[in-house]
Amino acid sequence: MLFHSLNIIEPILKSIEQEGYKIPTPIQEEAIPLVLKGSDFLGCAQTGTGKTAAFAIPILQLLHASKTNEKRRRIRSLIVTPTRELAIQIDESFKAYGRFTGLISTVVFGGVNQNSQTAALQRGVDILVATPGRLLDLMNQGYISLRNIEIFVLDEADRMLDMGFIHDVDKIIAALPRKRQSLFFSATMPPEIVKLANSILYKPAKVEITPSATTVDIVKQLVYFVDKGNKNALLIDVLKDEKIKTALVFTRTKHGADKVVKVLKKNDIIAEAIHGNKSQVARQRALANFKSQTTRVLVATDIAARGIDVEDMEFVINFELPNIPETYVHRIGRTGRAGAKGTAYSFCDAEEKAYLKDIEKLICKKIPEIKDHDYPLLDNNPVKAPKQERNHAYRSNIAAAKPSFPGHNHKKTDQKKHKSWSS
Ligand code: AMP
Repeated sequence: MLFHSLNIIEPILKSIEQEGYKIPTPIQEEAIPLVLKGSDFLGCAQTGTGKTAAFAIPILQLLHASKTNEKRRRIRSLIVTPTRELAIQIDESFKAYGRFTGLISTVVFGGVNQNSQTAALQRGVDILVATPGRLLDLMNQGYISLRNIEIFVLDEADRMLDMGFIHDVDKIIAALPRKRQSLFFSATMPPEIVKLANSILYKPAKVEITPSATTVDIVKQLVYFVDKGNKNALLIDVLKDEKIKTALVFTRTKHGADKVVKVLKKNDIIAEAIHGNKSQVARQRALANFKSQTTRVLVATDIAARGIDVEDMEFVINFELPNIPETYVHRIGRTGRAGAKGTAYSFCDAEEKAYLKDIEKLICKKIPEIKDHDYPLLDNNPVKAPKQERNHAYRSNIAAAKPSFPGHNHKKTDQKKHKSWSS
């Protein structure tokens, strides 16, 4: 299928072409016609599936079709997303896809001075992308009114819950007009999320894109078994490979990220850390340096890496394995985007073998081992990781991880399926 067959208007088709997109991703194929029809929408899909365009394109088209001649622009669409990085990237997407529509978007997020954000709001915008805290703050100060919202998007709802934003989200929803179109995206559907979706959406169309298929089908995954104390040395060895122009390295903690950066710098590898202790300006700068390949290695914690979207990023290295298997899927989803090739290396010490087992169960695949390296695992019996640390909350997802489409497994779910989610 081509974008032309989705009834997208010429000014938007032109920008899609400029972005270099040839065919819609599965979520775009499903969501665009449904949203254009005016339906509420529930998408079970994570970052990397093309979900931003799946909502941004039809929103731009609907707002463009009902453009008013009023002098002053009003905020007619609101997108709420959990992290600053995601908010910035969503706003960039609206600007890119909407460049020939005359519609204006802006973004507000915390951690920075509000003046440039309030100035943009006062100039007038059609589309607002926001993180919850700063949005409420600016609403309370009278800079933002949600009275004219026609289309509302709640993005990454499960992360929103994880990050403790649920009360903020409730307050935002209470300020929206009752008559509106609502779109809801979440990578997982635990019961609290189903409840939240039910409270926001009216007879939604539902589409489910199983994220694990991305990892199974596109990203080349390999594991090194290595003692904890040798991970730094192994990382330096791996990075000797000149094919690795840039790599995103994941650690579990902020302190761990800083330590890895220090070691890399000592070995003349240009590296920067991105995590919650860094200021917004420092995070944006680190991301920009990484995107321009000035920085070769970006070391990140999971929360900070949400939404990092770097075109053509080929390598992800799990310096430490996550204890929640879905986090692994999120991490390696940073590469292999929209069909690009990608490689994910994981460094697994003896303690982390249990985590690896959980990951392999989730992705329904055994990750091949690289045996030929200088730091093979010798200490096979360290203190065991406490059992309760392993997360079993998402076990029910394991059964769902059966890939079909090369890239994403998608299925439309019907009203009955929705009922079973809500029960
Ligand atoms: P998202 O899931 O929205 O974070 O998008 C992931 C990446 O896929 C972004 O870099 C988009 O620019 C890219 N992308 C989105 N839709 C398409 C498409 N139809 N073809 C190629 N790339 C796409």
